[in-house]
Amino acid sequence: MESYFLVIFIVLTLVFWFFLKHLYNNRYRKFIESFLNSSNSINILYSKDNITFINRIGLDFFCFNSVAEFNKTYANLSQLFLSDTDCVAKHTYGRKWLEKLKSSNGKPFKVKLFSKRDKMSYFFNINISKIKETNQYLLSFSDITKLESEKLSITKQAEYDALTKVYNRVKFNEVLNDVIYRANRYDYKFSIILLDIDHFKTINDTYGHPVGDSVLIELSRLINMDLENSDTFARWGGEEFVIITKTTENRKGSLLALKLQRLVSEYNFKKVGRVTCSFGVTEFKIGDTQSLLFERVDKALYEAKYNGRNQVVAK
Ligand code: GH3
Ligand code: MG
Ligand code: MG
Repeated sequence: MESYFLVIFIVLTLVFWFFLKHLYNNRYRKFIESFLNSSNSINILYSKDNITFINRIGLDFFCFNSVAEFNKTYANLSQLFLSDTDCVAKHTYGRKWLEKLKSSNGKPFKVKLFSKRDKMSYFFNINISKIKETNQYLLSFSDITKLESEKLSITKQAEYDALTKVYNRVKFNEVLNDVIYRANRYDYKFSIILLDIDHFKTINDTYGHPVGDSVLIELSRLINMDLENSDTFARWGGEEFVIITKTTENRKGSLLALKLQRLVSEYNFKKVGRVTCSFGVTEFKIGDTQSLLFERVDKALYEAKYNGRNQVVAK
């Protein structure tokens, strides 16, 4: 009889203990969820591989009414990660991305997400932390979109010409250094084309400086449209531009220069009408340095000017 009571007592104690634990867990979960809902950034709770909670800001960002709706649409959060520089994208780790984040020693993952709400892309740093006394993980998203766009505009300012938006001389020299390195070691052939607008001073004097500026912009666009993705185009300074072009048996630098010379001379520039350019071209030879290349291409351009302008001279 006594042992019968003892069993009942143990069973009741266990039931009571589980009840209290359940109550406590529920309260604890509710507390965490309401705390996360008051946050101004996206917060997501994960248990094993499943999303169990998305806070108010998160649901709004992803345009869903509930976690269940989100989980019905996406099997994994990483499906939403877009590709961009330094970002963890959809295919970087696939379904294993969460495991990777857990073992990243506190280093956040940078991701790019698209918000259906305002049809814009955002950058976030995702941090992960384990919630004490639960098997849940908290993913907290810090919005770094503004920081990223500032970083991008600083890089652009350092590499691009403010007027024409093509590479500036600093960036050009950097690219040329790399190309020379490649050409000296591997079977990579290229040419340099240096072009200078003919009688540009007269254009400025006749139509004014702002029109001169618009000629520079139009010319950059015209040439850029005709180049291949592998070509590098930069403003060398003033009304001089420079091109690095990969050459093959069928694709010679001088042929590209001839094509561009014709393209420019036949184009109708706003307000000004006809504008011509002179072109110097030189092909890379093993052992060439930047200064040797420019010595030759400068000479070629000088000859093109001397011989009457609006022409191509190759050296
Ligand atoms: P050439 O056919 O011998 O090249 O004659 P040119 O008149 O083109 O050459 P010159 O070197 O005598 O004059 C270049 C002019 O380009 C002088 C300078 O004021 C003008 N220039 C340089 N940079 C800019 C710019 O950013 N905008 C405008 N509008 N003009 C510029
Ligand atoms: Mg010049
Ligand atoms: Mg000129």
